[in-house]
Amino acid sequence: MLTALFGGTFDPIHYGHLRPALALAKEVGLNNISLLPNRIPAHKPQPEATAEQRLAMLKLAISDYSLFSIDTRELEPQLINQPSFTVDTLRAWRDQNGPQSGLAFIIGQDSLLNLPTWKEWQKLLDYCHLLICQRPGYPQTTDDLQSWINQHQTKDSQALHHYPNGYIYFANTPLESISATEIRLNIDNQQCCEKLLPSKVWHYIHEHGIYNSKKS
Ligand code: ATP
Repeated sequence: MLTALFGGTFDPIHYGHLRPALALAKEVGLNNISLLPNRIPAHKPQPEATAEQRLAMLKLAISDYSLFSIDTRELEPQLINQPSFTVDTLRAWRDQNGPQSGLAFIIGQDSLLNLPTWKEWQKLLDYCHLLICQRPGYPQTTDDLQSWINQHQTKDSQALHHYPNGYIYFANTPLESISATEIRLNIDNQQCCEKLLPSKVWHYIHEHGIYNSKKS
């Protein structure tokens, strides 16, 4: 069985996360995708919603989909002051599950382009496959990454099931022009963005006054 983790800040979760992940699961044959919220993102500004609020929104967002579950390991209390480094999380998963278990880590195209800034990024494939979702506005690769990608890319989704780690796979997922930044800005400017995220999440945001600087 191939375990799939989809890491992110999810501040908030939106259809730009959910729709590509649903399509990816069909394309690759994934039975489950575990959303992996970080407490302190290592490579971007700190979230506006608390970890508890982001987790609550994840729970609401996945309540209508059997594909998704949530992995809270990066929210554990002992990590309260530490940035979540993906390589450490994947290494811990591998220690728990052994070398033969299949693991895939899902990222968007923008995260792929940022990869060289991640801690020990070249070790990621020692622990998992990387599944890349398309994201509008981002090129497929950069000169820095091209030779690394050439060494590890597979176009055969079955290879992801036959080997526990080591491949990069570019998925043919739908282009969703949605970002959490845009949603936060829209909410702060009193603009409706109900179509960009599940309505249960939208209502939670309003009930709790999140992303609304004028209210807090
Ligand atoms: P922000 O706008 O706050 O930077 P975000 O919308 O990029 O947030 P994250 O929670 O940081 O959301 O993203 C988690 C993962 O989901 C990342 O790997 C990111 O590349 C991917 N992702 C986010 N939005 C999209 C999208 N619209 N299409 C494809 N991948 C996406």
